[in-house]
Amino acid sequence: MNLIEQIDHWALTAPNAIAHISGDKRLTYGELRRRSDALAAHLTERFGNNRSPIAVLGHREPQMLIAFLGAVKSGRPYVPLDTVLPQQRIDKILAISRPALLLSPEDVTKLSSSAPFVPATRVQRDDPFYILFTSGSTGEPKGVIITLGCLEHFVAWMLREQKFVPLGETFLNTAPFSFDLSVMDLYCSLTTGSTLFSISRDLVANPKMLYRALGNSGSTTWVSTPSFAQMCLVEEKFSEGMLPRIRRFLFCGETLAAQTAARLLERFPRAQVWNMYGPTEATVATTSVRIDRSILEKYSALPVGRAMPGTDVFVVNRAGETLPANEQGEIVIAGPNVSLGYLGRTDLTEAVFFDHFGRRAYRTGDQGRFHDGFLFFEGRMDSQLKLSGYRIEPGDVEANLLALPSVREAVVTPVIKNGAAQSLAAFVVLSGQTERSHFELTQSLRRQLAERLPVYMLPRKFVFRDVFPLTANGKVDRARLAQSL
Ligand code: AMP
Repeated sequence: MNLIEQIDHWALTAPNAIAHISGDKRLTYGELRRRSDALAAHLTERFGNNRSPIAVLGHREPQMLIAFLGAVKSGRPYVPLDTVLPQQRIDKILAISRPALLLSPEDVTKLSSSAPFVPATRVQRDDPFYILFTSGSTGEPKGVIITLGCLEHFVAWMLREQKFVPLGETFLNTAPFSFDLSVMDLYCSLTTGSTLFSISRDLVANPKMLYRALGNSGSTTWVSTPSFAQMCLVEEKFSEGMLPRIRRFLFCGETLAAQTAARLLERFPRAQVWNMYGPTEATVATTSVRIDRSILEKYSALPVGRAMPGTDVFVVNRAGETLPANEQGEIVIAGPNVSLGYLGRTDLTEAVFFDHFGRRAYRTGDQGRFHDGFLFFEGRMDSQLKLSGYRIEPGDVEANLLALPSVREAVVTPVIKNGAAQSLAAFVVLSGQTERSHFELTQSLRRQLAERLPVYMLPRKFVFRDVFPLTANGKVDRARLAQSL
């Protein structure tokens, strides 16, 4: 059975089992199969052999799941888009992905209520399954192409390692579907006949409602960024009493602080805590380690684990030579979970993807080393950074600032506190003279930038300069600007 058949299988054996809960909406496995089949038939009738992607724009609606499966059952990959994205960012992604159709939850409801009799051909192992957009350093988002084969390799590993109980798990979905962390909860849940419990953004904005929802979720498997768990830990009641069924916390996407893991183990003594690591380009996560007391006692900076079976993870020097244990270099991933590359960007693809003894390989740009058999993540080789688990290229924010008529020069740097990026700061040279105060200018730039970029990419602080300091060879002295914060 391939992954799609595995999901459909639950419609036969447990049609009334709940596949998804989002607010007051519920979707059963029977309905998921019937509706996604109907949507696939409509897409096939309308677009025939045209295999362009299907873009899906929504938030946590059950229709998102129907649309994802409907697209792949018609042989087309989907592009998940969250409504938190500003229109200009959505337009850029649509211009790059050139979808056959953009579906809203309402469209999905209409197109999935009846099915024309048209047999649809599903995506095969080497076909794109989804295309996920991430920040690109020139201001253009990059579309990472993930095949069915990549996804199957990842999910099969998760199922073997975590031994999820079929029909017996509730997965917490905290990440938007446009962020690849959500792929972990979504497909581990659907392939095991479990329930996906979505936490929508209005819940995250209201702590009282959030804790109530968590308490009512019946979650057995927590999937989030460490930042999300840290936020929850602020509330003392966030403990076993609130989540009595919880069996495991799965973290990925950014550094898991030892203190966060320790506090979770104290508050949830019967649950396991896992640290997982990997980029979108290698399908969600490639390494994992269970963080127990012995690991906490031994390491102050936690390991990110061992590679999934069937995939090689190694560390190379600048010449691309594999380094022995304990030496720091760039982390490379080679195996069936590595993406085909960036949609429509052969230049970017060739720069970081390559063939490694017949296997697809990806240079992550992450620095790290092996020690005691574990991989340790030790920062980036470039300026890419993470804020609350979101991947950001400062160059993306700079390019969007420079696109504003009032901005002549822009440099964006992270504000670092206790060794971690806390927010972004933008240094700006304006195009002309102005009478406006710094406060007014900041408000205006933030407002204009918010039309182009998601909220998590907006600089918190703006610093205005007449000119930028230069280095000896005439480049903008970024280090000096950052030091001046
Ligand atoms: P994304 O493509 O958004 O999943 O971001 C991938 C990047 O997040 C990786 O290349 C790392 O820089 C960082 N990352 C992912 N997982 C971890 C982890 N467990 N610890 C530290 N950094 C991580």
